[in-house]
Amino acid sequence: MALRSMDTLNVTGRRVLLRLDLNVPLKEGRVLDDTRVREAAPTVRTLAERGAIVIACSHLGRAKGKPDPALSLAPVAPVLEKHAGRPVRFVPDVVGQAATNAVAQAKPGDVLLLENLRFEAGEEKNDPAFCTKLAALAEVYVNDAFGTAHRAHASTAGVAAHFSELAAGPLMAREIAALSKVRDNPERPFVAVVGGAKISGKLETLTSLANRANTVVLVGGMANTFLLAEGTAVGTSLVEADLVGTAKEILATASARGVEVVLPTDVVVATSPEAPGRTVNVDGVAAGEAILDIGPRTQKRIAEVVAEARTVFWNGPAGVFEKPAFAAGTLAIAQALAASRAFTVVGGGESVAAVQQAGVAAKLSHVSTGGGASLEFLAGETLPGVAVLEEGNK
Ligand code: ADP
Ligand code: MG
Repeated sequence: MALRSMDTLNVTGRRVLLRLDLNVPLKEGRVLDDTRVREAAPTVRTLAERGAIVIACSHLGRAKGKPDPALSLAPVAPVLEKHAGRPVRFVPDVVGQAATNAVAQAKPGDVLLLENLRFEAGEEKNDPAFCTKLAALAEVYVNDAFGTAHRAHASTAGVAAHFSELAAGPLMAREIAALSKVRDNPERPFVAVVGGAKISGKLETLTSLANRANTVVLVGGMANTFLLAEGTAVGTSLVEADLVGTAKEILATASARGVEVVLPTDVVVATSPEAPGRTVNVDGVAAGEAILDIGPRTQKRIAEVVAEARTVFWNGPAGVFEKPAFAAGTLAIAQALAASRAFTVVGGGESVAAVQQAGVAAKLSHVSTGGGASLEFLAGETLPGVAVLEEGNK
């Protein structure tokens, strides 16, 4: 189903409720990393330039349904103003009289930023009464917050039913387009590289990718459980012993479907992430050692597989890349994707951080900032925040 695009909406002179992802890290009222604000700013500017009254809103942190001054969106307003190149008026209220008044006074081209949505108990509960109040602020609804689209909250889901005119913002549209291509229509060979700490929490995504890809490369902590399932001694490595059976099933399914599975053949081990590492064959892990990265032979194999691919999706670091001694495998994967001619998509919090650390983000087709939402989308799950924007859903 197609998503409605923001371009098709008539917004001139009209009040637009714009759900953004301005969930930035704050410290003592200062924005530590403004990436999300920078990315959201063009949507705000576009709507304002088209003569909309922009009513921007977002959650920030884990506010518990009541005001928490440490989680106020107030410090974000000047940052948004700077990046959008338009004055942004912060409104210290969500759906109360102050918000209603500010909206009533606003003129076409004005930008308001409401207070943290999660200061209201109705937001995470998707409470109908709160949805009604939030919707009453505006005539048109645009959601550009893909990262929260997997949550059925008031501002991402419930509010939509009140609007006959609604659309996906450009960031949302770009995420869906790239992830849909990977999930539904990948050019082949399609290679999925999956790593990170654990299988649990990514099981549906992993299973889905193992069903759709031509080759699945397993790295990072999650590969340990697969190695264990194949009878390899993994010492003190991070493993999920209760998922060995699941790992065996995934390997059996892949084999039955003719999906190639690439596991590490050499690894970097150490007695702790603070200790120096040594590279060994995967069957050479000593009892007191943990696998903390993939070795150079495995890196080379992955680079070859990626070089032959037409589509690559990567989620999950290949090692404890936060420590320089165990970052080589992860950085090598980032470089392999950057060098590839394939349609390359990276998703996941730490994976995106690794791509930025490697300085190759601009060489990839799409860097998904959706985190959990991207993985759920790839697993084939319906995201409530996307479903309400789909054409014909009304
Ligand atoms: P993402 O956020 O990209 O989805 P995850 O959250 O699943 O990735 O995993 C990231 C974490 O996995 C990193 O903090 C990294 O240190 C850890 N990790 C990767 N490989 C290993 C390993 N072999 N042993 C322990 N932890 C690992
Ligand atoms: Mg993570």
